[in-house]
Amino acid sequence: MNQSPRPGKASFAIIGGGISGLSAAFYLHKHLSQTSKDDFEISVFEASHRFGGVIETLEAKGCTIESGPDSFITNKPGLLDLASDLAISDQIISTNKDGRGAYVLAKGRLNKLPDGFVMLAPSKLLPFCLSAPLSLSGKLRAMLDLFLPARKSKQDESLASFVRRRFGVEVLQKLAQPLVAGIYVGDAEKLSAACVAERFVQIESTKGSVIRGLMSQVAKSSRDSGSGARYGLFASFKNGIQTVVDALISSLAASGVNLRKNCEVHSVRTLNGGTSTKKIAVQLDDRTVAFDGVILATPARVTARLLGNGEAISASLDKIPAASSAVANFVFDKSEFAFEPDGFGVVIPETEIASRGYAAIAISFASKKFAGRAPQDLVVVRVFLGGVKMENLLAESDERLLERAQADLSKLLGAGKPLYSRVHRWHQAMPQYLVGHKDVVADVSSHLPTGVLLAGASYHGVGLPDCVATAKSAALQLIDHYNTSLADSQRAAVLH
Ligand SMILES: Cc1cc2nc3c(=O)[nH]c(=O)nc-3n(C[C@H](O)[C@H](O)[C@H](O)COP(=O)(O)OP(=O)(O)OC[C@H]3O[C@@H](n4cnc5c(N)ncnc54)[C@H](O)[C@@H]3O)c2cc1C
Repeated sequence: MNQSPRPGKASFAIIGGGISGLSAAFYLHKHLSQTSKDDFEISVFEASHRFGGVIETLEAKGCTIESGPDSFITNKPGLLDLASDLAISDQIISTNKDGRGAYVLAKGRLNKLPDGFVMLAPSKLLPFCLSAPLSLSGKLRAMLDLFLPARKSKQDESLASFVRRRFGVEVLQKLAQPLVAGIYVGDAEKLSAACVAERFVQIESTKGSVIRGLMSQVAKSSRDSGSGARYGLFASFKNGIQTVVDALISSLAASGVNLRKNCEVHSVRTLNGGTSTKKIAVQLDDRTVAFDGVILATPARVTARLLGNGEAISASLDKIPAASSAVANFVFDKSEFAFEPDGFGVVIPETEIASRGYAAIAISFASKKFAGRAPQDLVVVRVFLGGVKMENLLAESDERLLERAQADLSKLLGAGKPLYSRVHRWHQAMPQYLVGHKDVVADVSSHLPTGVLLAGASYHGVGLPDCVATAKSAALQLIDHYNTSLADSQRAAVLH
C-alpha cells in the first residue's frame, strides 16, 4: 500500500468536490490551522473534470446563466457565514424588490399565488380568500385548519397526507404539490413531511393551527425586520452561484490543500490493527492511500458503493434515492417574449401537466429575479423538466427537450424564437427525503466506520446553506475524532 501523505503529518481526505466537499475541506483547514500549525495535509478527490458538482454558472449572449442552483435561502446561516469567511459577502445580491411572488397554472391560466402564501399554507387570510385559484369549498376547507386540533401521533407522514389533513385536497393539488415539486422534483405522496415541511409540522405540534402559527411568525418577522434580514428571503452572488465555488477553490489552493480533479475514488475501507492513527484506506485508480480521517461528500448512492455493497450501512444509504431533472436555459430578445412577468416564475400542477400536455414542471424568469443577469434588451428564462413523476421525459434528446420546453413557453407566455438555448441534465442529483428519512439518517450514522464522516445533500437538507452547515459540522467532528484517537494511540505507546 502506498502511504503517500507524509509520515508524521495528520492526513485527511474529502471525497467529492461539490459545495459540500469543498466547504468541508475549507472548515477542516480553517480549524486545524488554528490549532495544529502545519502538521496536517488535506486532499479533495473529485471524479469529474471540474469542481462545484451541480453548481455551474455560464455566460451566453452577455447573460449570466445558471445550469443548476441559482439562489439560496437566507434564513439559514450556512452560506452567508461561509461567504463572510471567504470575504465575498459584498458580492451577495438580493432578489429584485419588484415582482416578487410567482404564478401557478390553473385551468390553463396563469394565476398569481396569493400574497403571503408560504409553500403549503397561507400566512395572510384576505389575499388567500380573494385570490387563490381554488373553489369556494376548497378555500373553506383550507380555513378549517384554524379549528382543527394538532395530530397526536409524532410519527412521520407524507407531505401530501399532512397537507390533505390540514388544508384539504384542493390546496394539495393546486398549490402545495406544484410548489414542492418545483423545489424537490419529488412526489408529495412519498416525501417526508418532517423533513420537507419541518417548519409547518413544528407549528402544528406547538400551536395546532398552521395558519395561525404562520400569521404570528410573519407578524413577528415584519416587526423585527428593521434590524433583521439584510437580504430578501433569497439571495445569490452578483456573478452567479459559481462565485462561492471559485472562492473556495482559490482559498483551498492558497492554503496548500491538495485539489485533485479527474480522480474517482473506488472504495473507502477501515484498516485494522497497528498503532498508526492512519486507519482509512482510500482506493484510487492506480493506488490505495491511507488517511487519518475521511469525509464522504458524495451522493448517498455513491457513498453506499464506496463503503461496500452488502454492508449494513450501504443498505441504509440505498434507502435515500435521488431524482433526475433537467434545466433548459433560454435567452430571448425582449421583443420575442410577449409576456411581461410580475413574478419570478410559474409552477405547473400535475393535473395541468396531465390534462394539457405540458412538459415543464416550473419556469423561472431568471433575469427578472436578479438584476444584472442580462443586457437591457434580453431576457433569461429557465425551464425545469423531469423529476420523479416525469423522469421518462429525460430519455428524449436535448433537441427534443428544448423543443418541448420552448413549446410550453410559447403556449403559456407567447415566447418566440430564442437567441440561445441549452439543456443541462442532472442525473440523480436531487435526494428524495422519503417518509422516515430522519430514522434512515440516524441508522446510517450509527453504522459509520470510525474516522469516516458524511456530508452532502443526501442527509440534513438539500439547500445550499444546509449542505455548507452539514459539511462544517462533519469537519469539526472529524477533528474531534482525530484528537481523541491521537490521544489514545499516544497513551497506548506509553503503556508499551
Ligand atoms: C437542478 C438543481 C437546481 C437546484 N437549485 C437550488 C437552488 O436554487 N438553491 C439551493 O439552495 N439548492 C438548489 N439545489 C440543491 C443544491 O444545489 C444541491 O443540493 C447541492 O449543490 C449539492 O451539493 P453536494 O456537494 O452535496 O453534491 P454534488 O453537487 O452532487 O457534488 C458531489 C460531487 O461528488 C463527485 N463524486 C461522485 N462520485 C465520486 C467518486 N466516486 N469519487 C470522487 N468524487 C465523486 C461528483 O462528481 C460531484 O462533483 C438544486 C439542485 C439541482 C440538481
